[in-house]
Amino acid sequence: MRKRFSNFGDRLSGFMQGRYGYDELSRFMSAIGIIIMVISLFPHLHFLYTIGFALLILSLLRSLSRNIYKRQMERNKYLSLRSKPVQKIRIYKKMWRERKTHEYYKCPGCKAYVRITKPGKGRRIMVTCPKCRQSFEERT
Ligand SMILES: [Zn+2]
Repeated sequence: MRKRFSNFGDRLSGFMQGRYGYDELSRFMSAIGIIIMVISLFPHLHFLYTIGFALLILSLLRSLSRNIYKRQMERNKYLSLRSKPVQKIRIYKKMWRERKTHEYYKCPGCKAYVRITKPGKGRRIMVTCPKCRQSFEERT
């Protein structure tokens, strides 16, 4: 016999049994949905409300979905699309944190960022990319 769910937590986990659950993509969709709904409060932007609301509903439906494989595929796609901008933001943050001690140059060969200890101003330096070994000249 099936055990009776005694409290809300048990009932919820029973309900979520076999369902996909909340992931990064759903979180992103609901965050964007809420932002769009807030923007829709401004005059002439009311039409956005429906879009924001639809995003919220969609993120909820994803969590409740039983098609776990398909949801995982969506999540993988989202994570791979997100990885580049996330990396960029991370490196910009690092540059900002180290702006007094380090200089970052973009390698013309492989586009990687090369981090070097800040040299004196107004000098020409040779930078060697640790990734592809290409050397390039930079002015500080
Ligand atoms: Zn390089």
